[in-house]
Amino acid sequence: MAEVNPISEKNKVWPVFKRLLKYIAPLKGILFIAVLGLITYGIVDALFIAFLKPFIDEGFDTGKPSVTDELMQNAGMADAGIDVLGIAPFVVIGMFIVRGVANFVSNYSLAYVSNQIILKMRQEVFEHYLKLPVSYVDQQNAGTLISRVTYDTEQIARASGNALIVIVRDSVSILAYLGWMFYLSWQLTLSILVVAPLIGIVITVVSRRFRKVSVQIQSAMGDVTVATEQMVKGHKNVLIFGGQKEEAERFAEVNDRNRSRNMKLALTHSISQPVIMIIGSLALALVLAAANIDSFKADLTAGAFASMIAAMLAMLQPIKNLSNVNAEFQRGIAACATVFALLDTKTEEDKGQYQVARVKGDIVFDKVDFRYPNAPDLALKQFDVEIKAGTTLALVGRSGSGKSTVTNLITRFYDQLESGEIRIDGVNVNDFKLKNLRSQIALVSQQVSLFNDTIANNIAYACDGNVTREQIEAAAEAAHAMEFIKDLPNGLDTEVGENGVLLSGGQRQRIAIARAILRDAPILILDEATSALDTESERAIQDALETLQTNRTSIMVAHRLSTIEKADRILVVDKGRVIESGDHQSLLAQKGNYYQLHQLQFGNE
Ligand code: ADP
Repeated sequence: MAEVNPISEKNKVWPVFKRLLKYIAPLKGILFIAVLGLITYGIVDALFIAFLKPFIDEGFDTGKPSVTDELMQNAGMADAGIDVLGIAPFVVIGMFIVRGVANFVSNYSLAYVSNQIILKMRQEVFEHYLKLPVSYVDQQNAGTLISRVTYDTEQIARASGNALIVIVRDSVSILAYLGWMFYLSWQLTLSILVVAPLIGIVITVVSRRFRKVSVQIQSAMGDVTVATEQMVKGHKNVLIFGGQKEEAERFAEVNDRNRSRNMKLALTHSISQPVIMIIGSLALALVLAAANIDSFKADLTAGAFASMIAAMLAMLQPIKNLSNVNAEFQRGIAACATVFALLDTKTEEDKGQYQVARVKGDIVFDKVDFRYPNAPDLALKQFDVEIKAGTTLALVGRSGSGKSTVTNLITRFYDQLESGEIRIDGVNVNDFKLKNLRSQIALVSQQVSLFNDTIANNIAYACDGNVTREQIEAAAEAAHAMEFIKDLPNGLDTEVGENGVLLSGGQRQRIAIARAILRDAPILILDEATSALDTESERAIQDALETLQTNRTSIMVAHRLSTIEKADRILVVDKGRVIESGDHQSLLAQKGNYYQLHQLQFGNE
């Protein structure tokens, strides 16, 4: 699996961020409100600290004149009559109300913005999946593809929302604290600032490490999902083959890898915070020491000093937040880059222009060489066959011989031939408009996918809406599906459950056949279509299929030879080549591979 890791190149951050901004741009009004809320919040926090000074100097006035009088004058509070201690409770309540409102406004509007971004990205990724070529989806595992939609999109919004909160709110408070400190004593503040670069260095080192680990964790999380999903899907197999121990051990490994990465993250996290705190305390120590120097002491009232210390202490948390914000931001960008890389993967190629309402159904494989992407061997070698419109071709052969590949190429699930051409009615399949090509084909495959909906809707899935209830019923009837449907509690309106779990294999297959009947396409592909049927329903289905096949070109992939005896032509395929060709009787008469297969299956009858 090709894990995307674009963040390993540092200079990719900016373009990714710019692209993210495009998602944010339409929401800038609300974002602006959020930012206003955050700024207000940051300022109120700082004002609270600043209020300490008049509170101490005026409230507990010792008679000594101080610089605060000037400030109070400016703030209009200075008249001799004002009782600072008396108004303090109201100031505190007022401030907290403003802070609370600001908090609500910013949180709520940020949540709105985040959720809009998640909504949009999820939809885009999901719709992108719908356009991806089979070759891409084959190479990815489902867990990863799912977590792109569920986990990564959420990471982006959460991380960038948190980053914004910290960047705006905490920077505003830090600036306000610093301004206040400069106002109180610029000399003292300047000396504190000497320590700032040290903090900066630690922040950079720590966040760089953090970024690397965070990307690793992202992929490790995926592993846990993938491993669990595989087990859940193969649950029956695990039980029957007694694979519990192996599965548990395999999972233990993945689980432990995940734990160890999380611990690495925790370690970086745990180290970074105390280190920054200790460095911060150096600044505090410096002030305490400096305050003892006489020239500084002269400037400072008790209130100013208390307020200064309080501002410094209050600043530690925002600084700490800011030091983590890079990691948070990087986490968002990493998730973002993964999602964008996915959105940039090539969708199915559709350069064809040819369109036709209904093909006749002549299909030609003209000396086709085909190799699956990254596969060492050709899956089809000089595959050459002509299927006349309205006839039935059956493909038999060992598993892995290339039968399904033939169907994968007609449907253009894979479109890169190494050489040769596939034509329908004389037109290269790659020249068709993709949608038009596929509309000519009905596919009944071994794995029937049913959607979590009613039986009627599952049958109607084959057509774009315009079918009547009668048509659905007729199709179900023709597919011998009505036989079991009418015994169900709600008939055609019975819900089939997730992926049709409430139905048996044979019942599901009959629904798939009904679907194909309803679709009424000129080309029919039956990939092991009758594999899940018992002999009883097989006979019934056989009739249904024969009706379905009249006037259509059909290609049947079959293991059970009994189902294909009536085919107009049978190809025996081996290692991607046609090794025998003819109808049932003539192939038997040849006494070659087909004869042997037949002997194997029917020898004892
Ligand atoms: P059959 O349908 O006869 O069982 P297939 O047509 O599925 O065989 O496979 C033909 C060959 O191509 C096999 O060797 C198989 O391993 C290989 N193959 C099938 N699907 C893929 C794929 N998606 N990627 C790579 N190789 C594949």
